[in-house]
Amino acid sequence: MNVPFLDLSVQYASIRGDIDEAFRGIFSSCAFSGGPPVQAFEAAFAEYCDVRHCVGVGSGTAALELLLRAYNIGAGDEVITVSHTFFATAEAVSLTGARPVFVDVRAESGLMQPSLIEKAISEKTRAILPVHLYGQIADVDAITAIAKSHRLIVIEDCAQAHGARYHNRRAGGLADGGAFSFYPGKNLGAFGEAGAVTTNDPDIATRVRMLRDHGSSVQYIHETVGRNERMDSLQAAALLVKLKRLDAWNERRRSHAALYRSLLADCPGMRFIEVSPHNEAVYHLFVVRVPQRDRIREALSSQSIGTGIHYPIPLHLQRAYEHLAYHPGDFPTSEKLASEVLSLPIFPELIDEQIAHVATCLTDILRFSA
Ligand SMILES: *Cc1c(COP(=O)(O)O)cnc(C)c1O
Repeated sequence: MNVPFLDLSVQYASIRGDIDEAFRGIFSSCAFSGGPPVQAFEAAFAEYCDVRHCVGVGSGTAALELLLRAYNIGAGDEVITVSHTFFATAEAVSLTGARPVFVDVRAESGLMQPSLIEKAISEKTRAILPVHLYGQIADVDAITAIAKSHRLIVIEDCAQAHGARYHNRRAGGLADGGAFSFYPGKNLGAFGEAGAVTTNDPDIATRVRMLRDHGSSVQYIHETVGRNERMDSLQAAALLVKLKRLDAWNERRRSHAALYRSLLADCPGMRFIEVSPHNEAVYHLFVVRVPQRDRIREALSSQSIGTGIHYPIPLHLQRAYEHLAYHPGDFPTSEKLASEVLSLPIFPELIDEQIAHVATCLTDILRFSA
């Protein structure tokens, strides 16, 4: 049995009629940038996330950067984020001219450790940027409490958490602003690159709209230097089709996760990433921790089981951040997770037999190496 880490073709086959029809409409109108599908998606996604405003942009990285810039964060400022995340989280901070300041994560969840934030705050700190990694929402209650007492803003990196709930409220509406990615492999994925900002603040939404369109709100009048990061109409149309299915797909992911948890409950030497408090997770990834991770990954691969590593090098040890002068040992939990995490296949279209096969193979491999 072959179990790919991710196969988007099965999903396309299941929605092909609707996607092809939506695309044909755009091809015949020839309105490829902005326009009705983008506005329709923005309205639908704002409602889905239960926020007042959504602004579609070109990628998740652009969403983060433009949201930070909308809050006037830039050169001379610091933004506190985690080292255990995808590079784009910190890259977006750097793109504004600000400096990312890392804190470590909690070993159980891989999410920002709030008790470490206070020590990282300086005169220059403007914002805290927690990442809702793997489809679970970070400890927003604790983080916003710290932010309030220091007059900092909180931006959610929601790139892996479309539809995730915390205290029954959706990702993207829990703080000052949310940044989503619709990269094809995300829980809500476009047929190319796309992203969105969510916020309840009308002024911030207006500023992101201006920044995504060359710093312009009125054609040929430019208030500032922005970017070309408008959302593409084809992507908006595809996302509208897929948004209707997102809850059902997330439910499938949760049921796969529950099956993995029961089948792997006694697996020797393996640990789960735990469900964090107040969360209804959406399992963008199903991550376990194993010793000798690379060898186990190789063994699974030789049995045609695809896996991923999210992520192998913590950001404070990336060459791009050499100038920040961090060292090995600065964030021990992030470094440990980077050496132990293994992501198992979890997309909605998997069938129970495939999950059971992965669980059996992984258990056998770990039993032999115990
Ligand atoms: C995917 C991702 C991003 C970047 O999104 P893009 O659309 O690829 O630019 C940012 N943060 C996290 C945590 C991600 O997983």
